[in-house]
Amino acid sequence: MPRLLAASSDTIAAIATAVAPGQGSVAIVRLSGPQAEAIGRLLFQTPGQQLWDSHRVLYGHVVDPATGERVDEALLLLMRAPRSFTREDVVELHCHGGLVVVRRVLELVLAAGARRAEAGEFSLRAVLNGRLDLTRAEAISQLVAARSRRAAQLAMAGLEGGLQQRISRLRSGLLDQLAELEARLDFEDDLPPLDASAVVAALRHAQGELRQLVAEGQQGELLREGLRVAIVGRPNVGKSSLLNLLSQRERAIVTDLPGTTRDLLESELVLDGVPLTLLDTAGIRPTSDPVERLGIARSEAALASADVVLLLFDLAEGWTADDQELRDRVPGGVTLLVVGNKRDRLPAGAPIEPAEVTLCALTGEGRKELAAALLERCGAAGLQGLEVALNGRQRELAAAAAAALGQSLEAAEAGLPWDFWTIDLREAIGRLGEITGEEVSEAVLERVFARFCIGK
Ligand code: GDP
Repeated sequence: MPRLLAASSDTIAAIATAVAPGQGSVAIVRLSGPQAEAIGRLLFQTPGQQLWDSHRVLYGHVVDPATGERVDEALLLLMRAPRSFTREDVVELHCHGGLVVVRRVLELVLAAGARRAEAGEFSLRAVLNGRLDLTRAEAISQLVAARSRRAAQLAMAGLEGGLQQRISRLRSGLLDQLAELEARLDFEDDLPPLDASAVVAALRHAQGELRQLVAEGQQGELLREGLRVAIVGRPNVGKSSLLNLLSQRERAIVTDLPGTTRDLLESELVLDGVPLTLLDTAGIRPTSDPVERLGIARSEAALASADVVLLLFDLAEGWTADDQELRDRVPGGVTLLVVGNKRDRLPAGAPIEPAEVTLCALTGEGRKELAAALLERCGAAGLQGLEVALNGRQRELAAAAAAALGQSLEAAEAGLPWDFWTIDLREAIGRLGEITGEEVSEAVLERVFARFCIGK
């Protein structure tokens, strides 16, 4: 990767904190590269006898060197290589928050010779300089984007290397098998005969583990992305009460990630660790009023985008023709859960059909069962036990590795010569190396890091 490595000879800078007008009292401008300290010294005036030592905070003023104007009162943190996030010299200027000052400071830093960092470039340098493997770098971006505590914990596990260790262990096991096979190709006469069944068993075991990781990764995706839930039902069946009940738990952190638009009124909450986006489908109800029908098209679009629809009906009144009409409006591919509410008013022995779960939204009785049924219906049950979760890129690679191992096993079963086994085995090892970053091309790295926010 000559171009990327060469890039580390320059110094990059970016605003490392979220900046919004009037919000946040501190903002950080971060510099990394060989000129970081020199630029810091040029722009930062310290009163008294403060020492420019590594890992020490200096107090002073950011000054425009052209005019001598004081731009901000700030703190400067110097972290000399290799004891920094990028393993390069890093300087952080802790300025006052708000748009104007921090942007001005960044402009001064750029005018002094730094280059504006590309998205994710700090993390990219950390990876290239061996400070982070790729799975940890990706975990950082997931940690920043996490919308629930559970999603953040999962990202943290990735950051602590849980995923890297599992993939590296698998890869190293496969490398052992490859070595066994290749040794036989070159020096068969000098070695004891190959225990082919042991090789096959090892490949099969690795394939099983990879498939499991792929499946768990899909569940992890639910934790990260959350579920889009629509609550529909006739007036007065208890939709608002259910909403209140669900909202009494952890609230989701709403993030304005680039690319997400919120043209629907949505409310965010967390159910057993899974972020839920509740869609507004207030317009969905039987009506002949032409004005009300206007809202219906919008609500139906929301309904079609839901991962799961909760259809609420009143158990005391039983299943009515209007309930059935709503039921028929739920689009085919959408997962549906029929919930019978007001079970406290259900006469003893009366039928609950077609309710799949029953609830008393007023007291919260049945909430746990509802949550369990909802998560199960969406394939999100058992998420609490998840230790690591592959993201989309990692899942594709793990699936490709598992498929390559399948090919290798086929060659083994067909009794083909060993060099046929090794082709796909090598392919599988390569794919796993791409997950951790041990074998990645520049194009892959650029794609991965382009998804980061600038400044990370
Ligand atoms: P919505 O129109 O579907 O949003 O229904 P609401 O949530 O506003 O509830 C309508 C009425 O039913 C309110 O008076 C609620 O207090 C009452 N209600 C909601 N859930 C229950 C329940 O489980 N049991 C009983 N007895 N009343 C309920």
